[in-house]
Amino acid sequence: MAVKTRIQYAAVTDIGLYRASNQDAFLACADLGLYAVADGMGGPPGGDVASQTAMTVLFEWAAAHSELPSERVLREGFNRAQDVILNEVAANPLLMGMGTTLVAATIVGSIMTVAHIGDSRAYLYRQTVLRPLTEDHSVVNEAVRLGLLSREDARRDPRRGLLSRAVGCDDWAEPDVATIGLLPGDQLLLCTDGLTGLLDDADIARCLSRPAAPLDQCRRLVQAALDAGGIDNVTVLLLSVTA
Ligand code: CA
Repeated sequence: MAVKTRIQYAAVTDIGLYRASNQDAFLACADLGLYAVADGMGGPPGGDVASQTAMTVLFEWAAAHSELPSERVLREGFNRAQDVILNEVAANPLLMGMGTTLVAATIVGSIMTVAHIGDSRAYLYRQTVLRPLTEDHSVVNEAVRLGLLSREDARRDPRRGLLSRAVGCDDWAEPDVATIGLLPGDQLLLCTDGLTGLLDDADIARCLSRPAAPLDQCRRLVQAALDAGGIDNVTVLLLSVTA
């Protein structure tokens, strides 16, 4: 029997304490059941352009193809975003090297599909357990997966911001896609590395363990990242599933 669920959501983005601009972006559209977070790179103006472009293209693609299965909407939407970003770079040398991470979720009924490229993450918090739904496409995480680096050393590695897959950045990348059945009480977090670079999973789980409205949860997470140093732009988007 299908589980009936309702979704409440909120998002907060913050420039952080040291950056001159906020190159993160987010998208939340309840009508489409589409939620996404992106973290632009390539310095101004490219980083801002890349993350905003990814949001716009993904939204327009999903709105125009809502009849397609979620996995196709996301895969083809990601591909479309890459096309547009690479074409913008080809047309404007000032944008050379720009790219973005992209993590997106669609929810249809109680089924969630998550796709990502880069090191922005999705987590599921269910019954006091925080479960990562994404594996960072980063140079240090690839080394961790190969057993060449410990998770603890990876957090301090100077290469930790270096991505092995990005949307744009002159290279073609395919997203990883996963499908999960949602249950009442679940919280889904999409976030940029401005959060996860400063808070470990236990810190994030502690924030989510105290019941609160999604906006209050988002504010609590962002404040925790700022309190931990706020060295990067930080963006969180939280979905709360109720019966
Ligand atoms: Ca970042």
